[in-house]
Amino acid sequence: MTSPAYAQTFRGLPACPCQVTWIPALEHELRRQEIIQGTLGIAQMIGLYEASGNTHGDPNGAGLRKGGGFADFWLTGRTADRAVVVMRQMGAPATWRRPPNWDHDGGSEHVHSGMRGCPHATVQGLAQIWAVEHNGDGLVGNAPDPGPRPVPDRTWREGIEWAKEQETMDEERTREIVREELAKAGSLDNVKVDVGGENRIRLSEAFKRLFERTSAQ
Ligand SMILES: [Zn+2]
Repeated sequence: MTSPAYAQTFRGLPACPCQVTWIPALEHELRRQEIIQGTLGIAQMIGLYEASGNTHGDPNGAGLRKGGGFADFWLTGRTADRAVVVMRQMGAPATWRRPPNWDHDGGSEHVHSGMRGCPHATVQGLAQIWAVEHNGDGLVGNAPDPGPRPVPDRTWREGIEWAKEQETMDEERTREIVREELAKAGSLDNVKVDVGGENRIRLSEAFKRLFERTSAQ
């Protein structure tokens, strides 16, 4: 198989450089929200299967844009629905959960995800981004987008920045809670947390450790 010049190997599969950057950032956010553990199962990025209607591109094709920005992930059920929300928030508007037999040809359940702002997308991929912008579901026919609606105009790079901001906000909130608890407790020197036997430690020490941990990041 001949891959496009820009193709890189990511987890053993051909991918465009945008995907090599975006997917690990996506996985970080999915883990942080406790939607997945570890990494995502990836069926394909740059196209391997003809049945994909060329949104993933054909590495052997002669088109100007040969494929990138569109991935299929092995996700099912509620996990898939939750992941779709995050992917759309992170700048992949053309993202849908495809249920079992989605193509009426025995197709496997998965999440199909297309990033905005990837210069390697095929014409068919760009058409799916256009479709979701116009409330379509990205398949042949007139079915509406099941949503939730993507953030208008957000690119995958902006999506990574958005995810980092969420993480920072959550950390700051944790610090704020610790500060409030410290203030409520007043003088902590005489307060002890009894967790039994040798492990008895002062509450002030417990808070101090928690505070140092959240501040160190
Ligand atoms: Zn790309």
